[in-house]
Amino acid sequence: MSKALLEKAKTLEPLHPNKSTGLFGGKSSGILNWNDIAYPHWYKMYKRLVGNYWQADEVNMSSDVKQFSQLTQSEQDAYLKIIGLLSTLDAPQTRTALLLSLYATDASVQSIMAVIAQQEAVHNESYSYVLSSVVSLGEQNEAFQHGRTDPVLLKRNEDIMKQYNAFVEEPTIENILKTMVYTSLLEGMFFYSGFAFFYNLARHNKMVGTSTMVSYINRDELEHGRFIAELFRATLAENPEHNNAAFIDWVYDHFRHSVELEIEWSSYVLAEVEGIDLEEMAGYVKYRANKMLRMMGLNEIYPEHVENPMKWIRAYVDNFDGTKTDFFEQKSRQYTKTSDLNGFDDL
Ligand code: ZN
Ligand code: ZN
Repeated sequence: MSKALLEKAKTLEPLHPNKSTGLFGGKSSGILNWNDIAYPHWYKMYKRLVGNYWQADEVNMSSDVKQFSQLTQSEQDAYLKIIGLLSTLDAPQTRTALLLSLYATDASVQSIMAVIAQQEAVHNESYSYVLSSVVSLGEQNEAFQHGRTDPVLLKRNEDIMKQYNAFVEEPTIENILKTMVYTSLLEGMFFYSGFAFFYNLARHNKMVGTSTMVSYINRDELEHGRFIAELFRATLAENPEHNNAAFIDWVYDHFRHSVELEIEWSSYVLAEVEGIDLEEMAGYVKYRANKMLRMMGLNEIYPEHVENPMKWIRAYVDNFDGTKTDFFEQKSRQYTKTSDLNGFDDL
């Protein structure tokens, strides 16, 4: 495999065509015309991402403020630890989306990554927002230390940290592909035991504000996962020398190892939480891993886990449709769309 370091894409290069000749290491002018892009269906992905726009402080936390102190001690501990975990995923993802975009020689990818990075920034903000609603500043700050100090969490994040940093130090096609593998794991699997914890609280009518926010994050992550899986497939197809048994084995190995670590983490953080069956949780993690592999054009590695074993979760994640109905019906979320503005006459 070539170890050639990629250069950052030029910002503007009028000698190159608008339509990119390659996703990474290709040629493109830097001018983005959505009607002349190499992968036309990515425009729909961009529109879906932008359509999901939301902000943390739209979520009403007033009932959560009252309820937090009524949670059991283990629920409170898990709540704080899981927010700590989620923040260790969204912060690096904000930057990794930017880094991928810096090396992408396709302006549509740069734009999509810019939207993803913006959403990751909102996710980060939302963790500070919910914590500031329910606990003291001292406890908030402590929750954000877990990612630096909790040994199980550090172990769980070690490989993704290594791979993301390897891409910073050595921006090769190989490291970009491997970083996309970890991004797929992050967007499609690493978040989900945390999400399940909050949905479990919500189904017992606890901390519904937090769960509403988590469901918005979840919806974003599903779209991010979908796009990154597409980008991975397209990049691999454009660089067939990497599409070999050694690399594909690497992907499966790292999926397997990540699943093991995720199950270890979820058993540790959810052990005392009522209403979550750890066996089922492990099945859900494997189901999510299968799902991501399928989207990446690869094979499932857990044939006994092709169905979602935690069907009740669907009520919280799978019900999003184009009308932006809020499952928890806290607030109708309507934004003025540019298409409603009817041209420039009003300016
Ligand atoms: Zn996120
Ligand atoms: Zn994401």
